[in-house]
Amino acid sequence: MTLPGQLNPSPRLLLGPGPSDVHPRVLTVMATPLMGHLDPQFLVLMNETQEMLRQAFQTKNALTFPVSATGMAGMETCMVNLLEPGDKIVVCSSGFFGTRQVEVAGRTGAQATPLEIPWGQVFDLNQIRDTLGKVRPKALSIVHAETSTGAWQPIDQLGKLCHEFNTLLIVDTVTSLGCVPLDLDGWEIDATYSCSQKGLSCPPGLSPVSFSPRAVEAIGKRKTKVQSWYFDVSMVQKYWSDERFYHHTAPITMIYAIREGLRLLHEEGLATRWQRHLRNHRALKAGLQALGIEYSAVEGHQLPQLNAVKVPAGVDDLSVRKMLLADFGIEIGGGLGDFKGKVWRIGLMGYNSRAKCVLTVLAALEQCLLAAGHKFTPGAGVAGAIRAYAV
Ligand SMILES: *Cc1c(COP(=O)(O)O)cnc(C)c1O
Repeated sequence: MTLPGQLNPSPRLLLGPGPSDVHPRVLTVMATPLMGHLDPQFLVLMNETQEMLRQAFQTKNALTFPVSATGMAGMETCMVNLLEPGDKIVVCSSGFFGTRQVEVAGRTGAQATPLEIPWGQVFDLNQIRDTLGKVRPKALSIVHAETSTGAWQPIDQLGKLCHEFNTLLIVDTVTSLGCVPLDLDGWEIDATYSCSQKGLSCPPGLSPVSFSPRAVEAIGKRKTKVQSWYFDVSMVQKYWSDERFYHHTAPITMIYAIREGLRLLHEEGLATRWQRHLRNHRALKAGLQALGIEYSAVEGHQLPQLNAVKVPAGVDDLSVRKMLLADFGIEIGGGLGDFKGKVWRIGLMGYNSRAKCVLTVLAALEQCLLAAGHKFTPGAGVAGAIRAYAV
């Protein structure tokens, strides 16, 4: 075998649906030497991380910690702990990740009833109320920020509604944490899972989860053991609480990373962070509109951190994305499922929600769109964004 060369990839600007670029301060802490996962110093870091996570989620939930795996593992953790065979769950599905919730919930042996609307739309409370009345499920799950469609689902009144029916509310906040308002306690959310590589500007590898006292009580009433050993929160909890009972070796370096990502979030302040995401989104949107590019999610419910837009008629999806990557080192996302080949997804998450990213991607996209034969006034996109920043 010839030994592969030293790792030396071309630089990339990650403006897709995630991972997004890691903040330089996070990269720096990741070079910190390891300590043991039961070292008293590490236990302090764990406590600090949990407390900052609670503040990020705006919750007092004791059972709040990062699962040692990516966002999908968080989804699995919520489903396997809250559901057992024979339980009923309603899954609100209007995109790729809603479909995944149906699949993951179904594998617990629970009966999953999908509530479906066309991709790019958001659910209406009355529609959910009707279904809750008919099905009377133990839980209802929904995606806050549907990364496949760019739709921003309002959920602030949903917990209250679910609790009228004695139903637990599970929310996917993988793409919303650290980007848009999220208030776990105020919105009465019972279980949620997120990730490290989107709004928190860390590498993929952790999935922060949080369970309300109501959810913890439901877990305590289970008749059967949780099907998964690794994701059984009653066991993991003993490691992430004062007991510090060995469960698995925490990914030390990733805890360093998320701790720094959370420090960055709270240094900036939640409200300032959300405002920054809105401002950069508005500039990007103005630029894209000047190029004749439309959003795929309904007006008024478009995510600032994930701009899903329609590939203009006559333009080849793949050739534009290939040119963006080859000539400019910029990654944007293609469409998933129903939106494959039809949608581009431009992420402005966490560290990457910056004017530099907005103006860079617009300039590069203009060059690629000209090559692809799309008609517009060269410079219009960048000018549109600059004008939006000026107001
Ligand atoms: C990215 C994403 C996931 C999956 O997270 P992974 O870290 O890729 O496992 C789940 N839900 C939504 C809404 C996402 O955007």
